[in-house]
Amino acid sequence: MERRVIAVKGTVQGVGFRPFVYALATDLSLNGFVNNQVGGVHIEVEGEADSLDRFVRRLGTESPPLAHIEAISWEAGETRGEENFRIQGSASERGGAVVITPDAATCDACLRELFDPRDRRCGYAFLNCTNCGPRLTIVTGAPYDRERTTMASFKMCTACRAEYEDPANRRFHAQPVACPACGPQLQLVAADGTAIPAENSIEHTAQALLAGKIVAIKGLGGFHLACDATDPNAVAELRRRKRRDEKPFAVMVADIPAVLALCECTRTEQELLASWRRPIVLLRKRPHGELAEGLAPGNPRLGVMLPYTPLHHLLMCAVGGRPLVMTSGNSSDEPIAYEQADAVGRLRSIADLFLSHNRPIHLRCDDSVTRVVAGQESLIRRSRGLAPQPITLPVACPIPLLAVGGQLKATFALGRGQQAIVSHHVGDLDHYQAYLAFERDIGLFEQLFATHPAGVVHDLHPDYASTGYALRRCHAMGLKNIAVQHHHAHMASCMAEHGLQGSVIGVTFDGTGYGTDGAVWGGEFLIGGYQHFTRAAHLRYVALPGGDAAAREPWRMALVHLLDSETRCLPFEQRHAASQRHIIERMIERKFNTPLTSSAGRLFDAVAALAGVADRVSYEGQAAMALEWAATSSAASGSYPFSMDQACDGPEQPLLIDTRPMIRAIVADVANGEGPPVIARRFHTTLVTMIANICAKLRQRTGLERVVLSGGVFMNALLAQEAAARLHADGFDVHQHHVVPPNDGGLSFGQLAVAASRMGGAA
Ligand code: ZN
Ligand code: ZN
Ligand code: FE
Repeated sequence: MERRVIAVKGTVQGVGFRPFVYALATDLSLNGFVNNQVGGVHIEVEGEADSLDRFVRRLGTESPPLAHIEAISWEAGETRGEENFRIQGSASERGGAVVITPDAATCDACLRELFDPRDRRCGYAFLNCTNCGPRLTIVTGAPYDRERTTMASFKMCTACRAEYEDPANRRFHAQPVACPACGPQLQLVAADGTAIPAENSIEHTAQALLAGKIVAIKGLGGFHLACDATDPNAVAELRRRKRRDEKPFAVMVADIPAVLALCECTRTEQELLASWRRPIVLLRKRPHGELAEGLAPGNPRLGVMLPYTPLHHLLMCAVGGRPLVMTSGNSSDEPIAYEQADAVGRLRSIADLFLSHNRPIHLRCDDSVTRVVAGQESLIRRSRGLAPQPITLPVACPIPLLAVGGQLKATFALGRGQQAIVSHHVGDLDHYQAYLAFERDIGLFEQLFATHPAGVVHDLHPDYASTGYALRRCHAMGLKNIAVQHHHAHMASCMAEHGLQGSVIGVTFDGTGYGTDGAVWGGEFLIGGYQHFTRAAHLRYVALPGGDAAAREPWRMALVHLLDSETRCLPFEQRHAASQRHIIERMIERKFNTPLTSSAGRLFDAVAALAGVADRVSYEGQAAMALEWAATSSAASGSYPFSMDQACDGPEQPLLIDTRPMIRAIVADVANGEGPPVIARRFHTTLVTMIANICAKLRQRTGLERVVLSGGVFMNALLAQEAAARLHADGFDVHQHHVVPPNDGGLSFGQLAVAASRMGGAA
C-alpha cells in the first residue's frame, strides 16, 4: 500500500478532467480524492504500487480531448487508509488564473445520442457534454460555472441535474448541459423579423436551402450565411447581396468521404478537419466537381469544414449531405453578426430566412482558417476552437499587459505572467463597426480573464485605430504605453512561437507596416532579438501612389516600377490608357499622397500586373495569390537578376536590394511572349535567391545562423516552402509559424513578447 500526491499542470479545469480522474481511480481500485488547484489539478491516491504506476501513466495518455497537460509530477505521501475516491469541491478555484477553453465540436458520444431515437436528446440541437460544446462564446464571467454563462436563465430539469451532479457521468459539471425539456430552442424568423411557426425548423430550413434560398444560421460564435454550394444561382445571389466580389466562400461538407469527393485531402488535412477545433481547412479542389465555380472564382483552393454543432449535423442530415456555403454573417468586411436583433437588422437584405435560437452568444468568434504546408499546419486565421488557449511567452510579463495588434486581420492579446491570451479574429479596424467590436471584446476579455492591464502595447503606426485606442487608454488611465515597430513584432512573434532567445535574422515580408523612418516598410531583413532590432537590408524604396489605395490597384505599382527602372512595357501600356497613367505619374512627380515603400507585397502586385495576371483586385493580397497559383503551374525555369548595394554611408547602413534589373528582365520576357506561369515562377525563384543571398551575407557579417520567416507574404506556400528549403540547404536553422498566423493576426502576440522582454521580465 502506497500513497501518491500528484500535481497535473495545464488546461485541466472545465474540461471534464476530474470525472476522468474519478473514473480512472475507480477502474484501478484506488482511493483518495481530486480537486482543482491554481494552474491545474491536485490528486491524492493510495493503493498497490503497480496500480499507482498505471494510474499516473494513464493520466497522461487517456486524458479527455479538451485537456492539455503540460506536466505531471508526484511525490510519496503517508497512507491514510481511505475508503473511496471523491471529487472535492473547488474552494481553491477562486483566486487562481482563470482558464477558459475554446469552443469544441460535438463529440462522438454526443453525436451518437443525437441520432439515437431512444435517447431523450435525439434530434436536440443543443446537446453537449464536458468533452464538447460552447465555452468561450457563452462565458460571461469568472469562475466558469453555469451562473456565469448565457445558460444561466435556463433552469436544469431533474434529469439533467442528476447527470450534472454525477461524477461518473460525462456531463458532470458540463456547464451548458441541456435537453429538449429544459434547454434552448430553435426559432425560425422571416426576413421581416416575424417568427415563423414550424413543426420542424431544421426540415423547413433544409427545404429552403434546397430550393436555392439564402439562410442566416446562428452558430457557436455568430451567424453564418448559408446556401446550397452546388447551386450556381444561389451562390451568385449570395455574392451579390453580400456585396462580395471575388473573396472565396467556405463550404461545410458532411464528412471526410464527402470531402474527398470534392477536394484532394491528405491524412494531415483530414486530421485537422476532424479535430475538435474544426477549423476551415484550405484544400485543393478536384476538377469537374459538383460545386458551383462561383464559390472561389479562379481559385484552385477551397475552404472546407465539417459540421461542428449539433445543429449543423442535423441540418447536413436534412439536406441529404448537400455541401453548404457557410460564410460569415456580415456584409462585405463588417464584423460577424452574433446578436439576434442586430443579425436580423443587418442581414435582412441578404438572408431570406433566419434559423436562430434563444441561447445568447456572449462573445463573437469567427471560424478559424488553416492549411497544411509541407506537412505542417500553417494558420491563416486563429479564432474559434483555438482562441483563447494560452500561448507561452518566452519571457514573463512583469506587469499585466494588453497588446492591441495592428489594423487589418486584427487580434489583441492579454499578457499575464508567461501566458499570452490571444483573442479571436476581430477583423479590419478600418471599419467603424469592427473597431467598436474591438473595443467591446477587449473589455470582455479583461473581465473574463480577470486581468487588468498596467501597460498597453501598440504598433508604431500613428493612424492605426488600435494605436489610437492604446494611446487614449494609457492617457486616460495612466497606463504605461509601449510602441513596437510592425516588422519587429512579426519577427518576435515567430521567435516567441519557437521559444528562441538571443539574436536572429528576421526575414519579414508583408504588404505594409510603418517604419522608424516614416516610410512604408514591407521587404525587410532585420537583425536582433525581442528587445532591439536593426534594419540590415530592405527592398529599394519606390513610390506608393495613393498610399494604401495602391493595394487594390496593382497596375499602379507596375507603373511605378516601370518608371523607376526607366523601361516601358507595351502590352501593359495598351491595357492602361495614357491619361490614366498620367494621373499616377503626376502624383509621383508632385509627391502627392505618395509615400516611399519597400513593401514586398506591393512588389508582388507590380509583377502580377506586368505579367497580366491582375491589374485590379477586390481584396488585399489577391494579386499575390494569383501570381502564386500561376507560378505553381510552371516548373522551375531560372530566375531574374537583381543587385545588392551597400548604402554609401557605410556598413552600419542597411543593404539595399535593387529590383530594377529584375523589372527590366520581366519586361523583356513579356515582350518575348513568355506566359504568366513562367514569369511568375521566375519571380518566385528570384525572391528565394534574394532571401538566401542576403541571409548568407548577414551570416558572414554577424555569425547568426538562425532565420525566422514572418509577415503576410509568407502565407504564399510556394515562397515559404522554397525559401525554407533553400535556407536549410545553406546550413541555416529556419523557423516558420505554426501557432499564430504569419500575417497581422500574429502581431499582438509578437508585441507582447517584445514588451515583456523590454520591461525586463524574467525568462
Ligand atoms: Zn459531447
Ligand atoms: Zn434537461
Ligand atoms: Fe504585417
